[in-house]
Amino acid sequence: MLFPDEGFTGLLLASGGLGRLMVDEHDVRAMGGVPLGKLVKLGMTWLAGIPGTVGGAVSMNAGTKYGAMESAVRWVRAVDRDGCQHVLDRKECAFSYRNSLFRRAGWSVLEAGLDLLPGPPVDRVLNERALSQPVGEASAGCVFRNPQDAPSAGWLIDRSGLKGTCVGDAVVSRVHANFICNRGSATARDVLGLIDRVRQRVRQAHGIWLDLELDVVGPG
Ligand SMILES: Cc1cc2nc3c(=O)[nH]c(=O)nc-3n(C[C@H](O)[C@H](O)[C@H](O)COP(=O)(O)OP(=O)(O)OC[C@H]3O[C@@H](n4cnc5c(N)ncnc54)[C@H](O)[C@@H]3O)c2cc1C
Repeated sequence: MLFPDEGFTGLLLASGGLGRLMVDEHDVRAMGGVPLGKLVKLGMTWLAGIPGTVGGAVSMNAGTKYGAMESAVRWVRAVDRDGCQHVLDRKECAFSYRNSLFRRAGWSVLEAGLDLLPGPPVDRVLNERALSQPVGEASAGCVFRNPQDAPSAGWLIDRSGLKGTCVGDAVVSRVHANFICNRGSATARDVLGLIDRVRQRVRQAHGIWLDLELDVVGPG
């Protein structure tokens, strides 16, 4: 998420208190604030290296080439904007690529029932990330969604000659072109300026307009 430099006026819900995690054989019941690292320790190694919580991961349908949350979710308990609770099965969550009903409608995920889906050895997953992503640098993960029926956003940005391009302290990563890193004191304005430059150049070079995967928050 990218918050504006001038701050945010509004209500933010912190999910840190939703930390209960229950495991019964291959069934997992995890509240929205449970860190994904805890699911990795239970064997869901395909999530290794993704920062965040169960709530954020369900909302974003987070995943890797080894799987996405939509394959693991059995049900979700969520609260809508009027404070009403709902329990939805997987189909009702309307998952799609990095999206879900929760993200579209702004519902808060309180708890999810998950299948304990295994993945490759965790070292392999983390090593692959270290080779292909700017691990250890400050970023918000992938900035753009991969377009449908086209090469990946990272490939398009790379082939538009944009790796290393900067606006202020925001820079297109030389390791993975779909990451914008903060070299020190990048502002949200720098990041937005760089996003604009990347989009314009990719459109000129490839005729494709990149949609954002990053959530850009307005001033409230
Ligand atoms: C270095 C790095 C690498 C990353 N790699 C990946 C990757 O490989 N794959 C991938 O899919 N993502 C990746 N991400 C993006 C991100 O970490 C994941 O999407 C993660 O699941 C977001 O979880 P979060 O709790 O941090 O949510 P936030 O980033 O805080 O929020 C993301 C969205 O989820 C919503 N949200 C958060 N909590 C809840 C809740 N309880 N209920 C409803 N909505 C909620 C927010 O409103 C927002 O719309 C990466 C990010 C970074 C910084």
